[in-house]
Amino acid sequence: MNVADSQTVSAVLRRAGYVSAERAEDADVVLLNTCAIREHAEEKVLHRLRELARLKQSRPEVKLGLLGCMAQHNRVAIMEKAAFLDVVAGPDSYRRLPEMLGRAGDDASIDVRLDRAETYADITPDYGGGVRAYVTAMRGCDKFCAFCVVPYVRGRERSIPPSDLMREVGELAGRGVKEVVLLGQTVNAYRFGDTDFSALLKMIASIGGIERIRFMSPHPGDVSDSLIEAIATEPKVQPHLHLPIQSGSDRILAAMERGYMVAEYLDLVARVRAAILGVALSTDIIVGFHGEEDSDFEATMDIMRAVGYDSAFMFKYSVREHTRAFHLGDSVSEEEKGRRLSALIALQEEMSLMRNRAMIGREFPVLVEGPARRGGGMMAGKTPQFKTAIFAGDTAAGVERVRAGDTVNVRVDSATGHSLMCSLA
Ligand code: SAH
Ligand code: SF4
Repeated sequence: MNVADSQTVSAVLRRAGYVSAERAEDADVVLLNTCAIREHAEEKVLHRLRELARLKQSRPEVKLGLLGCMAQHNRVAIMEKAAFLDVVAGPDSYRRLPEMLGRAGDDASIDVRLDRAETYADITPDYGGGVRAYVTAMRGCDKFCAFCVVPYVRGRERSIPPSDLMREVGELAGRGVKEVVLLGQTVNAYRFGDTDFSALLKMIASIGGIERIRFMSPHPGDVSDSLIEAIATEPKVQPHLHLPIQSGSDRILAAMERGYMVAEYLDLVARVRAAILGVALSTDIIVGFHGEEDSDFEATMDIMRAVGYDSAFMFKYSVREHTRAFHLGDSVSEEEKGRRLSALIALQEEMSLMRNRAMIGREFPVLVEGPARRGGGMMAGKTPQFKTAIFAGDTAAGVERVRAGDTVNVRVDSATGHSLMCSLA
């Protein structure tokens, strides 16, 4: 989501006459786009800001800015810790950046007003190249889960008109993009007039040149029958569903104010698996939420075993100011959170390996992204289930070379928890 937002910022600045520099050392303006979801991310940003502040020692005219959720979340504390900042702009203030950067004077220019109407719908983000592009379909969140700062830093839920999305995706297709990832904090809560998320998926699927459609991040509470049907029947919509559960304990889910119980969630998983052939499931988990006992954590481990996710993002609970859970406190010690997280990660590695090994011997169409990181002439791409496939880029005869953007059929020869080793089928 921040990559997509940075591409919007880049487009705003380019319209105002800026060009991008290769390195921070060569730039007149350096902006950091930030995340506030956990404290850890904030610490990293402060460290990087202090490094960048050194640029101003040799070139005092360099402007340094902090953008995004961290700016929105805690600008007072940030200005105390990084008084050298010239610009502090929240997620709804990017249109004003040229003006803010142009302002003379020593005081920082700060704009962290949230704007219920801002969607940047008319600004086509600077697409970074490659076969996959991210397209923001909705912004903000209205769910207010007790642990989460997103509704406070990104504001109310608002959807971008389908006509703007169709135009943007059409342009991307014209530039060679094969896969679009529709983005939103609760992307499947998308609604513009009569167009809900499943209708949007079908509209996007009608655009020529776009071969694959994905979306991130859906909320389990907003998975409608029509969405399941759209994934099951629209060939371009890929069989991968991210269903963040957060905890396997009803007591903790209630305290988190997630809006579903474990039984409902498992029923959803069963319906999804029955309807969508070969679907991959992934999830998000928080360990050590306030009040989480050993038995609650064991319930989470049980859920991970029962569902058997293809992959998972797992986090230690981080208390966030302004959230509903802020005043509850933090009852699980850092060490205990660490222990639970390690146990969970170890279990998920086992599950990922098991799920990936089950693919051995099977064939999949892979959208080629480019050379694999490991080099050696190997190529990498994703299967429909969003698993990384690695394979030699030559056909057996060594004649035809596979290129980024091609879709090739591969057979899985072996698997780790993170990737599938394949050969061209
Ligand atoms: N809207 C999505 C999640 C967006 S935030 C959803 O509700 O499913 C991405 C993930 O960050 C969350 O799913 C959660 O697992 C994690 N997260 C959010 N707030 C957190 C916090 N305070 N501490 C630890 N992890 C958190
Ligand atoms: Fe945060 Fe997701 Fe809950 Fe919204 S739905 S408050 S983004 S965790």
